[in-house]
Amino acid sequence: MGASKYGDMPVNDFRKFGHELVDLMADYFENIENYPVLSQVQPGDIKKQLAAAPPEEGEDFNAIMNDLSKVIMPGVTHWNHPNFHAYFASTSSAPGIFADFVSSAFNANGMLWRTCPSSTELERQVLNWLRDMIGLDERFWGIVYDTASVSTMHAIAAARENIMEYKVREKGMTGSGIPKLRLYTSEHAHSSIEKGVIALGLGMEGTRKIKADKDFKMIPSELEKAVIEDIQNGWLPFCVVATIGTTSTTSFDPVDEIAPICKKYNLWLHIDGAYGGVAPIVPEMKYVIKGCEQADSFVVNPHKWLFVPVDLSAFYTTKPDVLKRAFSLVADYLKTAEDSQVENLMDYGVQLGRRFRSLKLWFVIRYFGRKGLEERIREHIRLAHDFAGWIDGHKYFERLAPVPFSTVCFRAVPRDNMNADEINEFNEKLMNEINAEGKIFISHTKLNGVFTLRFVVTGIRTGEIHVEKAKEVFDNALRKYLK
Ligand SMILES: *Cc1c(COP(=O)(O)O)cnc(C)c1O
Repeated sequence: MGASKYGDMPVNDFRKFGHELVDLMADYFENIENYPVLSQVQPGDIKKQLAAAPPEEGEDFNAIMNDLSKVIMPGVTHWNHPNFHAYFASTSSAPGIFADFVSSAFNANGMLWRTCPSSTELERQVLNWLRDMIGLDERFWGIVYDTASVSTMHAIAAARENIMEYKVREKGMTGSGIPKLRLYTSEHAHSSIEKGVIALGLGMEGTRKIKADKDFKMIPSELEKAVIEDIQNGWLPFCVVATIGTTSTTSFDPVDEIAPICKKYNLWLHIDGAYGGVAPIVPEMKYVIKGCEQADSFVVNPHKWLFVPVDLSAFYTTKPDVLKRAFSLVADYLKTAEDSQVENLMDYGVQLGRRFRSLKLWFVIRYFGRKGLEERIREHIRLAHDFAGWIDGHKYFERLAPVPFSTVCFRAVPRDNMNADEINEFNEKLMNEINAEGKIFISHTKLNGVFTLRFVVTGIRTGEIHVEKAKEVFDNALRKYLK
């Protein structure tokens, strides 16, 4: 069995293998807890099992499926495993997986309205749903990009375009005579912000990091001081990025105090809510986005904590016209008769071609419902708080940051007479041994020089029994040393 001479796989084979593939995925989910969460392979192990050259003749699809299980599977770190507690665990839900499947079958490229009206119009509607669920107002217009890094880069490009008196779009950074630009973000902000600044040609010096307080939140008075100082020294401040749920500790910056400073100095305010931005779907979490209605743009990743398969980042701005001004460049072959009546989403970013991503957010929101998503996020927050409480009551663990969302930062201090370096080394070793065992997977950060363990609950398959199992894993690992 194979491809017909010139065409694709025969439809009957597609049907047969499609069913088998769904069975394979269902078996995977049924048995997922039997796999080590963190792949146990060594560098190069997978590559050496792969053919050095592509096959000359087409192969039986069964052979491909076999190698998927035999060769690829051991090198997969199981993000969908309920005991994946590292980074921010992105998990995919069944409706999201189905939507990805369908999206590939349609293979519609939504660059123009005409090239897939459903893609453009569904994207508008489903992003309005998400916006309303989060609690942003209807001035926020949304677009789907692949990742938060790319969303934020677009925000920074729009912020630069928003400075009208220099013609950066026409003349570029050097030709426009624009003073050196400065963007401000907290010392705990994600690296994607600096990367965006670098990509846009503003250099490493284009980002100024603002000090955070003891709860890891940007200090607004430090921000204003930096802006004033920079203006005096000939810089042109243009943008502030505040974070709702920082990557290390999930702290959230006081946006309601930062926004007036942005207004006063005419700075674009972008909010990085890649992880924490979905939390306000839970009504009692709405307080974390206080002040965000004054922002110019906002990014949230449904692929992070809303059970949509990687990748789907939702970018919102109250100034889509500025974003369009920064990027729109319409070649003759892309002009259509209905241009004046429709949105062509290629106009709002770097990419031309666009995958039909909104389908998976639509499937997920419809299948679980707003309330179902609210309940899941609330349960994750509850489980993380339960874990934090366990840490607080533990003789040998101590917590290192507040827990506003579903991430706990802590470390072990097994003996009183250890110095700072010894405690750091101990915790690094503890983490590596726990991860090598494969029962759970955690990650780390450094907070003021302190090696910090991070325990995250964001997975759709994670329940109370998994958090209980994790506690056991920590206790057992610790016991080995205390003996
Ligand atoms: C994960 C994360 C990002 C980067 O997200 P990508 O979609 O992987 O680019 C940016 N900011 C924060 C706060 C994050 O947690």
